[in-house]
Amino acid sequence: MLFFDQSVGFIGLGNMGFRMASNLMKAGYKMAVHDVNCNVMKMFSDMGVPTKETPFEVAEASDVVITMLPSSSHQVLDVYNGPNGLLQGGNSVRPQLLIDSSTIDPQTSRNISAAVSNCILKEKKDSWENPVMLDAPVSGGVLAAEAGTLTFMVGGSEDAYQAAKPLFLSMGKNTIYCGGAGNGAAAKICNNLTMAVSMLGVSEALTLGQSLGISASTLTKILNSSSARCWSSDSYNPVPGVMEGVPASRNYGGGFASKLMAKDLNLALASAKEVGVDCPLTSQAQDIYAKLCENGHDSKDFSCVFQHYYGGKDEV
Ligand code: NAD
Repeated sequence: MLFFDQSVGFIGLGNMGFRMASNLMKAGYKMAVHDVNCNVMKMFSDMGVPTKETPFEVAEASDVVITMLPSSSHQVLDVYNGPNGLLQGGNSVRPQLLIDSSTIDPQTSRNISAAVSNCILKEKKDSWENPVMLDAPVSGGVLAAEAGTLTFMVGGSEDAYQAAKPLFLSMGKNTIYCGGAGNGAAAKICNNLTMAVSMLGVSEALTLGQSLGISASTLTKILNSSSARCWSSDSYNPVPGVMEGVPASRNYGGGFASKLMAKDLNLALASAKEVGVDCPLTSQAQDIYAKLCENGHDSKDFSCVFQHYYGGKDEV
C-alpha cells in the first residue's frame, strides 16, 4: 500500500478543477496549484495556497498530482511531457502518484501511464520504486464538483486506486475501479455516448409526440412508467416547463455544455475507429452536437438539442 504525506498538487483550476481543489483544501490536504490563467492563480494565492509557475514546480512540491484539463489530449500531454512538464525530471520524480481526471481518450491515458511508470521515485517510499498513474475522469458537472458528489471512474493499478480512495472521496461520493490503465477513460466516453444518444432519443420522441398532439408532460409520465424510462426522461428532462431544477427550466443554462458533449463524442469515435468498432449512433449524435455548436449553442446544456435541433416547444 502506498503512503502519502498529504501533499497534493492540482493543475487545471477551471470550472471543475477550482471546486475539486477547494474540496481537497477543506479536507485538510496541503496543496500547491498551477494554471495558465493568472486570475485563478491569484484567487488561490489570496487564499494562502502556494501557486507554482510550471507543472514541474508542482511535481517538485507534491506527493500526488491531480490534473483536470480541458478538451484536447495535447494539453494533458503537454502538462506531463512538455518543457517544464510533470515528467521533466526525466527518470527521477517526486510524486508517487499522478492522477488525470480530464476526459481524454484511453489510448493517450495508456501512453502517459507507460511514460510515468518508466520514471523512478526521487525518494523511495514503502516498497514502491516507480511512480504510478491513474486515469480518473469524473461524472457529474460543476454542481457535483462544488458539492463534492462526483463519481470517479478509475483505471490503473488497483493498489494505487485503494491508496487514492480517500482523495477521491474528498471530492466525490462514488469511486469505481474499472481495471487497467485507460479503463477509466474508456468508461467515461462510453457513459457519455450513452447519455448523448439517450438524450437524442428522448428529445426526438417528445418532439414527435408534441406534433402528434400529446403534451410533453403526459408523454414524459408514460415514458417514466414504461420501458423507455431513462435519466434523460426522468431526471434531466429536456422540455422547458416539465421539470424544475434542470437546465431546461433555466433556458439551458449551467449543466453540461453541448461543446463538451461534442468533444466527448469525438473521443468516442476516435477510439471506436482505433479498435475497429462501427458506432453509427455515436457518429450521428456527433454530427448533431457539432451542428448545435456551429449554430451558437455550444455553451448551452446538451439537453437544448430538444429545442435548438428538433424545434420542440416549451410546455405551457
Ligand atoms: P475548464 O476549461 O473550465 O478548465 C480547464 C482549466 O485548465 C482552465 O482553468 C485552463 O486555464 C487550464 N489549463 C488549460 N491548459 C492548461 C495548461 N497547459 N496548463 C495548466 N492549466 C491549463 O474545463 P472544465 O469544465 O473544468 O473541465 C475540465 C475537464 O473535466 C474536461 O476534460 C472536461 O471534459 C471534464 N468534465 C467537465 C464537466 C463539466 O460539466 N464542466 C463534467 C465532467 C467532466
